[in-house]
Amino acid sequence: MLLLGALHCTGCGDDGGGGGDGGAGGSGGQPATSGSGTTGSVTTGDPGGTTSASTGGTGGASTSTGTDTGTSTSTSTGTGGDDATGGGGSGGGGTPVDSGLPTPPGADNVAKPSGAAGGFKVIDWAGFAGAVTYTFDDVNQTQIQNYDALNALGVPFTFYVWTNKAEANNPVWKKALMDGHELGNHTSRHDSNDNGSDTDAATKFIKDTFGITPYTMAAPNGSDAYTSISQSRFLINRGVSNALISPNDSSNPFKLPTYIPPTNASTAAMDAEVTSARTGKKWRTFCIHGFTGGSDGAYQPIPLNAFLEHVKHVKDFGDVWIDSMVAIGSYWRGQKAVTGGTNTQSGSDTTYTWQLPENFPPGKYVRVTVTGGTLKQGGVPLAWNPHGYYEMALDPESVTLSP
Ligand SMILES: [Zn+2]
Repeated sequence: MLLLGALHCTGCGDDGGGGGDGGAGGSGGQPATSGSGTTGSVTTGDPGGTTSASTGGTGGASTSTGTDTGTSTSTSTGTGGDDATGGGGSGGGGTPVDSGLPTPPGADNVAKPSGAAGGFKVIDWAGFAGAVTYTFDDVNQTQIQNYDALNALGVPFTFYVWTNKAEANNPVWKKALMDGHELGNHTSRHDSNDNGSDTDAATKFIKDTFGITPYTMAAPNGSDAYTSISQSRFLINRGVSNALISPNDSSNPFKLPTYIPPTNASTAAMDAEVTSARTGKKWRTFCIHGFTGGSDGAYQPIPLNAFLEHVKHVKDFGDVWIDSMVAIGSYWRGQKAVTGGTNTQSGSDTTYTWQLPENFPPGKYVRVTVTGGTLKQGGVPLAWNPHGYYEMALDPESVTLSP
């Protein structure tokens, strides 16, 4: 069994998390979605009926409190991605939605398909060549003290919070949430065994402390005990074995593969992991515990500068979707749900239906295309985006294609 990051921190500073500047809005250096990363704004009266702490530009951490009153409170730190707005096709006919997905590379003058109605399919990785998610485990000291440098990269990360560690109370995590990063569950005690109660204790801490529902977790020590525990509680549980993830593949979402860079990993070594994902049109997740120079025994620490340079290289590719676990994970699982759905004919209309998995975050979208015809949800036509797709809400669990 792998034992990852099982050392308690005994001498961590409790500082860090001072005022950073760049928000995490946007992804992959796409200018259309770069966030401003200032303090959040609150709006009310949006039609989505959800409460969302949104990752600007990428629709990462979001949570529904179950309110369905037509009142929405949104705290968004980026300029491009408030996934509480425009939810469920509530806009006017053909009005573009704000899906929270980053703008992919490529032409922005693609003509709306005008052939025969048909060919309905979800576009892989929202139109990017591949995808990458960087996750950080254990709320280690070197994550906290280097937070501003990480945040300045302008891409959303996922931080898996070990909630009974003192560092879980560091103010940096509230700032990370406001900056558009995801906070996930890494249990309360970080044991290899649990009956579910320790996992639930961490969820309660995250709800009480940060006001959000965690949608993903990472199994402490990579323990298989969490494969079943996570299934009834989360969208995704990240494991510790390395593999790439493909659209519509059979990767286990409750033991999701990840790459753990070796101690002192070079920029080139990390670049190669993303290059293989990009050329294979797949998704690579990273699991990082901390950076060299810390005193709290982070598992397999890597040099900060090597990581910063690596992420800059991935951004420079321009066609890799860099986003949180919940953002890419909900796209991956949403695509699989739609692909595995059914379709029914009524006259010349075809209605595609699907069932979203349990613990699926509200307000998520996938990008779809057809050979021709008109796609409607709730009777409202979807708007063609000249980047080459329609943005389709997942919550309605159906879409109709008409000639
Ligand atoms: Zn851990």
